[in-house]
Amino acid sequence: MAFDYDLFVIGGGSGGVRAARIAAGEHGAKVALAEEYRMGGTCVIRGCVPKKLMVFASSYKTAIEDARSYGWAAEAGAFDWQAFRGKLDAELDRLEAAYRSGLKNAGVTTFDMRATVSDAHTVALADGRKVTAKHILIATGGRPAMPQAAAEAGALTSNDIFKLDALPKSVLIVGGGFIACEFACILNGLGVEVTQFYRGEQILRGFDGEARGHVAEEMRAQGVNLHVGTDVIEMKPVEGGTWVASTDGREAVYEKVVYATGRSPNTEGLGLEALGVKLGRKGEVVVDDWSQTAVPSIFAVGDVTDRINLTPVAIREGHAFADTIFGAKPTKADHELVASAVFTQPELGTIGMTEEEARDRGPIEVYTTAFRPMQTAFAGRPDRVMMKLIVCATTRRVLGCHIVAPGAGEMIQLAAIAIKMGATKEDFDRTVAVHPVMAEELVTLRKPVRTA
Ligand code: NDP
Repeated sequence: MAFDYDLFVIGGGSGGVRAARIAAGEHGAKVALAEEYRMGGTCVIRGCVPKKLMVFASSYKTAIEDARSYGWAAEAGAFDWQAFRGKLDAELDRLEAAYRSGLKNAGVTTFDMRATVSDAHTVALADGRKVTAKHILIATGGRPAMPQAAAEAGALTSNDIFKLDALPKSVLIVGGGFIACEFACILNGLGVEVTQFYRGEQILRGFDGEARGHVAEEMRAQGVNLHVGTDVIEMKPVEGGTWVASTDGREAVYEKVVYATGRSPNTEGLGLEALGVKLGRKGEVVVDDWSQTAVPSIFAVGDVTDRINLTPVAIREGHAFADTIFGAKPTKADHELVASAVFTQPELGTIGMTEEEARDRGPIEVYTTAFRPMQTAFAGRPDRVMMKLIVCATTRRVLGCHIVAPGAGEMIQLAAIAIKMGATKEDFDRTVAVHPVMAEELVTLRKPVRTA
C-alpha cells in the first residue's frame, strides 16, 4: 500500500522535531509534522529556555549587591518586567523560527494544526484532511496538572508565569518539584514575596536527601518562605488576590497562586486507546525500549511516554527512533546515568544514585563536603555549597554525584562524562585539582563521612 508519508509526527517539541529532522534530513524519509501551538514545544516556548532566561534575570540583584562588596559603586534599581518580557518574547520568536527553518531545510512538511490518529496508519488533521503514513510518532509532550479546586479558584501554572503583564507583589507556589522550586527562586530573585507550600517532608522528592536539605536551607536563607508539611485546604478569589487557608492554620491573601503540582501526558482525545495503544495510569503512552507502542506502526517519544521527562532525553529518544526505523541503525535510547540540573539558586546538579538508593544496594562510602565558596564569602554572604560522591565500596565506582552550588548544572555535565565512563573514586583522586574553583573539591575528598 502506498502511503502519503513514511512518517507522520504529531507534536513539534524537542523529541518530535529531532525525529522528523533525522528521518527526513539524514535518512531521506518523506516526513510530515503537525503542531497545534508553537513550534519548539515545552522546552523552547514555555519551559527550559524562558525559565533559564528568567533565572539569569533574577540573579542580577544579588550580583549587583555583591559588586558593591568588591568595590564597585553599583545600585540595583528596579526590575522592569515589561522590558524583560519583550526581549524574552522576541527571543522565543527567534528560536521558533529556527525550529521551523530546521524542519524546512530537512524537507519536512509541516501542518500548523491539531492532528489525531484515526487508524494505525491514518492521521486526521483539524481542517478535515486525512493523511496516511507508514509510521506515526506521538510526541505531544505534557501539560501542567492541578487539582480542580485550584483551577476553579484561578490558580496559575508555570505556563502563565511567562505571560504575566506585571509581576505580582506576592505569590504562593504550591508544590515541591523542579518547577515549584525553580519558580520560587526566580520570583524571589525578581523581588516578589514568595511563599511555597510543599505537602511532604522535604522538597525535591527523589533527589539525594542531603542535597534536598541543602537546597531548602539555601532557599530559605535567600528569602523564600518555604513551608514543608503544608498544603492548601481552601482557596477563593478575593479583592487583591486569592485567600488561602492552609493545613498549618495559616490564612493569608496572595496576589497570585501558582500550582506546580506535576504534569500530565498529552494523550487526551488523540484517539490512541481506541486503536489499541496502551496508556498508563497517568495517561502516558506505554512503549518498549524502541519507543514502540502496542500498535506496531505507532511510536511515541518524550514526555508523553513519561519515562525521564527531560528535553535531552526526548531528543535522544526521537533520534534513536529515526535511526532505527529509517536509518537501518537499530538504536535504543539510553536511560541510564542521565545527569540533570534543577535551576534553583543555588543550582542542584545530579547524576546517578542518591545516597538513599545506593544504601539499599550497599556497601557504599559517602564523601561529602559543604563550604562557603570564595566569591560570595568575600562579599560577606553566608551561602554554602555542597559536593557529594557516593562510591561503591567493592568496585570503587562512583555511583552518584550531587552538587548544590552556583553553576552546578555546568559542573555536573562534566562529572557525568567520567561517571558514565565508569570512573572510580581513585580516578577522581588522581585527577589534579583546578585551583581555585569550587569543583576542585570533587577531586580532593579524602575520607568518607560515612559508610553503609
Ligand atoms: P514534579 O512531579 O517534579 O513535582 C510535583 C510536585 O507537586 C511534587 O512536589 C508533588 O508532591 C506536588 N504535588 C502533586 N500533586 C499535588 C497536589 N494535589 N497538591 C499538592 N502538591 C502536589 O512536577 P513538576 O511539575 O515540578 O515538573 C514536571 C517534570 O518536568 C519534572 O519531573 C522534570 O522531569 C521536568 N522538569 C525538569 C526541569 C529541569 O531539568 N531543570 C525543570 C522543570 C521541569 P509529592 O512529592 O508529595 O508527590
